[in-house]
Amino acid sequence: MPLATAYIALGSNLGDRLGQMQTALDRLTQQSVVVQQISPVYENRAVGMGVADPFLNATAAIKTSLAPLALLDLCLDVEGQLGRRRSRQWAPRTIDLDIIAYAELELSTDRLRLPHPRIEERDFVLHPLRDIAPDLTIRGRRVADLAAELPMDALTRCGFSLHAPRV
Ligand code: ATP
Ligand code: CA
Ligand code: CA
Repeated sequence: MPLATAYIALGSNLGDRLGQMQTALDRLTQQSVVVQQISPVYENRAVGMGVADPFLNATAAIKTSLAPLALLDLCLDVEGQLGRRRSRQWAPRTIDLDIIAYAELELSTDRLRLPHPRIEERDFVLHPLRDIAPDLTIRGRRVADLAAELPMDALTRCGFSLHAPRV
């Protein structure tokens, strides 16, 4: 299978947030996934929807030979390795790995929707995505334009950084 570029959103608001994000990147990396670019890390202090613990958020660009569903399975597997337990929706989590986009693919199945359906309303995805892929288009709109229209609310660049795992 040819290599596709995909974008992953990472989020954590439970435990060693930065450490878990780095471990997730390390575990995603294997023969079929190479991390190419990583955004700065943002902290999101938004409250609401029962979310009290601040998130760290970042995005990564990868090259992969995995098909979209296999990439989703890998993400879910890595979440499980990092102790992610699904209880109620949007509960605090050690790690959340969402596939933001996979090549130019548009897909809507029970298990996987691409591009991720809620990108446009999320400053914590758009701003770190703008840092690494301003010209990416999501449903016909440039990420840089989408980010400019959604100012950072409770979001700050926190100065932490993640590093690309060695292959
Ligand atoms: P949200 O999707 O609003 O960010 P969430 O990340 O908390 O919420 P999860 O409980 O992590 O939701 O995921 C629920 C399911 O969403 C996953 O099991 C997966 O099958 C599905 N899903 C659909 N599209 C995607 C995608 N693009 N990336 C990751 N998961 C997806
Ligand atoms: Ca999510
Ligand atoms: Ca998710």
